[in-house]
Order: sequence, then C-alpha cells, then structure tokens
Amino acid sequence: MRGVALFLLLLSTMAHAGDSLNQFSTIGALMAGEYEGDWTVDELTNYGNFGLGAVNRLQGELIVADGTFYVAVADGSLRQLELEEQMPFVMLTHFEAQAVTRLGPSSYVLMTSAAKTLAANKNLPLAVRIDGHFKKLLLRSERVQTKPYEPLATVMARDEVRYSARDITGSLIGFYMPAYFRGLSVPGFHFHFVSGDRNLGGHVIDAELTRGKLSVDPTPVFHLVLPDNSRFAGLVLDGQHDAALDVIEHQTPGSVQNK
Ligand SMILES: [Zn+2]
Repeated sequence: MRGVALFLLLLSTMAHAGDSLNQFSTIGALMAGEYEGDWTVDELTNYGNFGLGAVNRLQGELIVADGTFYVAVADGSLRQLELEEQMPFVMLTHFEAQAVTRLGPSSYVLMTSAAKTLAANKNLPLAVRIDGHFKKLLLRSERVQTKPYEPLATVMARDEVRYSARDITGSLIGFYMPAYFRGLSVPGFHFHFVSGDRNLGGHVIDAELTRGKLSVDPTPVFHLVLPDNSRFAGLVLDGQHDAALDVIEHQTPGSVQNK
C-alpha cells in the first residue's frame, strides 16, 4: 500500500509540475540591458525540461530541449551549456503534451493558428512544440556583448546575425503568451529552433514546415522569479522598451525578405 500511495503522490506532483510555467526575470529587464543573471543551469534544471531564453553576456539564444540546455551562438552552431553557466532570462516548463495534431505543409502563420486552435483556452500561456521536417527556416542569434551593456534594441541593430537553413529535421520550442503578459514576457508566439542532430539552433524569424507533429501544453500556473540584486534594482522598467520589443521579437514572416 505504501508503494501505491507513493506512486499516487508522484503522479500528483508530476501533474502539478506540468502545469506551471517558470520564468526567471522579465523581458523588460532583458530589453533594458540586464544580460547577467545569477541562475545556473544546475539550479534551473528542476524547473523544466523545455524552454528558451538568453545566456549571460548574450552569448546566444538559449534552447532547453528534452532537459538539455543549449546555446545557439552567432553562427547558429549549438553548444551544450555547462552546469555552472548563468542565464539572465529563462522560461521553463515540464512539457507534457495535452493535445497533439499532425501538420502537413505549413507556413509559420498556419502553424501558429493551428496551435491556437488546439489550445482549449486562448487566455492561458501555452507551451508549443513542433517536431518535424522543415523546408526552410530563417533564424537569428547575436554576437556576445561586453560591459557596459546597451539596451537590447541597440544591440540587435548592430549585432544580430541572421542565417537560414533548408531541408532540415528538428523542433520548434516555444510559448504563446497572451497580450496581458506585456512587460513580463514576449506577447504572442516566440520560438527557438533546435535541429534533430543538435548542431544548429536559433531564434525563429520564419519557418516553413514540410510535415510534422504539433503538441501544446497549457500552463495555468505562472511562476515568476525576479532578480534580487543591485543591477535589477537600478533598472528603469517603465515600459519604455515595449515598442522596441515588438520590432525585435515579432518580425513577422511577412516582413522578412525570403532568402
Ligand atoms: Zn528568442
């Protein structure tokens, strides 16, 4: 009987973990130039096996896939993070697909609208995963920064690096955040890509799917952890970067030149 009770307890714990989105710092802080966090891979591993974010000094785009933390550096190549490496902004969840569907040839817009359709509640944050074969991807990362750090909009105008990939297998890993998360998180859809061979990754600007599997996991519990340090205390977080965020994170596929 004790074994059964323990099993049930484990089940309920797992179910709870699967429902929470754990976010560390805010997108507003990242926009303001807070590129050094105190959170290590070792500390965050327990908060989720699926997610995205940034790595200290903006060494590149963070992708957490199946429990492994990767950074996609400026040329798009992937490196697995060491346990002691730190991150300034991270979104993590224990991904457990609540709904799954197959997709045929799909544009970025079609993929995101399919994800919205699959979600029962459009007002909840949603973890979204698309595994499959991609006809085309337009990705970006950025060059590593040194102090004194400038706002993200300035950095991206100068140090963003874009690259494309064709006929590649991999996964889009990301979230849909309702608009009411503005200032805290990136409103709308936000994906990072990781290739099946774990050699290529980056922030997704545009994607064209050949075929694949779309899975969604709504996260009704939002757990926010804020930096309790003098750097965070010194930031001006008054929404001044909101318009720049729309430019940086929401270069919609239609606004991008096809390569
Ligand atoms: Zn991103």
